[in-house]
Amino acid sequence: MSDERVHIRPDIAVLPAYKQGRQAAADAFKLSSNENPFPPLPGVVQAVQAQTAFNRYPDATALAVRAELARRFDVTADEVHVAPGSVAILHELAKATSGPGDEVVYAWRSFEAYPGVVTVAGATSVQVPNRPDGGHDLDAVAAAVTERTRMVIVCTPNNPTGPIVTADEFDRFMASVPSTVLVVLDEAYAEFVTDPAAVRGGALIGRFPNLVVLRTFSKAYGLAGLRVGYAIGPQYVLDAVRACAIPLSVTAQGQAAALASLEREDELLERVAELADSRDRIVAALRDQGWPVPDAQGNFVWLPTGTGTAAAAEAFEAAGIIVRAFPPEGIRISIGEHEAVETLLETARSLVGDLT
Ligand code: PMP
Repeated sequence: MSDERVHIRPDIAVLPAYKQGRQAAADAFKLSSNENPFPPLPGVVQAVQAQTAFNRYPDATALAVRAELARRFDVTADEVHVAPGSVAILHELAKATSGPGDEVVYAWRSFEAYPGVVTVAGATSVQVPNRPDGGHDLDAVAAAVTERTRMVIVCTPNNPTGPIVTADEFDRFMASVPSTVLVVLDEAYAEFVTDPAAVRGGALIGRFPNLVVLRTFSKAYGLAGLRVGYAIGPQYVLDAVRACAIPLSVTAQGQAAALASLEREDELLERVAELADSRDRIVAALRDQGWPVPDAQGNFVWLPTGTGTAAAAEAFEAAGIIVRAFPPEGIRISIGEHEAVETLLETARSLVGDLT
């Protein structure tokens, strides 16, 4: 056999694959992937179980889900796009707008998938440091936009640090970015937001020709394993996105689960409110301990553990809690089972003197 190798794009050859949050042993709490700790509702399980025609392709257009979302957001079904997770839509948006020589601007640190999404499209990432409080510095993000910028991603609440972008900040930002640049408002955690000052993508739909709002069924609706995300935006943008999509990739089971979840939204949002309450209590307790925890508006909290990040993550793991480490900045802890809270706070207390 020849030892010659096929040509891999040089930028891809050095690109690491997306790294998933660590799995947990049976007796540990997995608080490393911002998942919803509640099991699926029985009605959602039944809707999935009713989809047994595995020999048939699913509806490639996910029309029933799009129609229901369109009704809720008061847009047409063509202004809604459904994909296997909002991360798939990020890839589709980057491919549709950006290629070699083009720039994609986003605040950093933010969602770990952004750099890979941009590289895969062949474009260049421009990362703008967050403010010391972990929030986006949107004026600096706007200032980083050049004639080469094709897309800007704004993540609110920001994963992994937690703060929101305010409606006022976002309005000012949109006014300063040319309408030829696509702005993606990544609202993966929107349903957990309780701060009245926060920007709400749903309220902005139709106001800007260059805005796409990205949401997911993975977090608040607890369907991470079934892979359903969606985007709301101008039809001409979403038509381009659909052209970049891998066909037929949203399963019939995912579509059925999304629809059944929308039907049971009240019950699901009660769970979300419970998680948001738990988050607020955890943040208050951590601040009481002396941790400078940034505002947390998603289903996770950020502990700024600095150079002690790896050691802190190990301490949590030893206590039975798997967290996500971002050395040398901090660790992100998802709001999970109630039973994990006491151990979480005890472990944080044992670390606080050394790390702050
Ligand atoms: N955006 C953000 C900010 C996220 O944190 C995540 C998941 N961690 C996603 C998008 C992607 O979620 P999904 O593909 O499950 O919809």
